[in-house]
Amino acid sequence: MKERRNRKIWGPREEYRPILDRVIKDFPSVLEHIKPERIFLCGFLARRSRFLAKISPNKTPWNLLTPDFDYAIQFHDPRYSKMDRYKQRAVMFHELFHIPPGGFEVGGPAYRKTKRHDVEDFSPFIKLYGIHLEKAGNMKQGESLWMKESGSSSSSSEED
Ligand SMILES: [Zn+2]
Repeated sequence: MKERRNRKIWGPREEYRPILDRVIKDFPSVLEHIKPERIFLCGFLARRSRFLAKISPNKTPWNLLTPDFDYAIQFHDPRYSKMDRYKQRAVMFHELFHIPPGGFEVGGPAYRKTKRHDVEDFSPFIKLYGIHLEKAGNMKQGESLWMKESGSSSSSSEED
């Protein structure tokens, strides 16, 4: 039998919850629709991962077992845990931003859906925080900077 060279060891990561709470506090209107208690945080140890973090909706049939969660965010721990606080917040913000308004509204059209990167809304991320998060220090300025940037890139940002 072939040895599995990149085995993942998984676990819950409640220790990342303060980061989630902080980001919601720093982006009160952008993330107004987020229900933190409906988000499961987990992580894995592995030598490699194609992604640093990823959000997934709670889908059938597993949502029958775990009805209390709408989304799970998973982190590649070796990388995420070593980032500075601003990069960690920027990554968390990015993942939360994948949740559309209505993402927690049971039975609604956006319920347990995620926004894709091709949505124009994501463009401020690279501009503000950098393609490799080299400008993540901009997270310090919270929502005001974000509003300025996203306001200028999409003139009609009305959506419900
Ligand atoms: Zn993403």
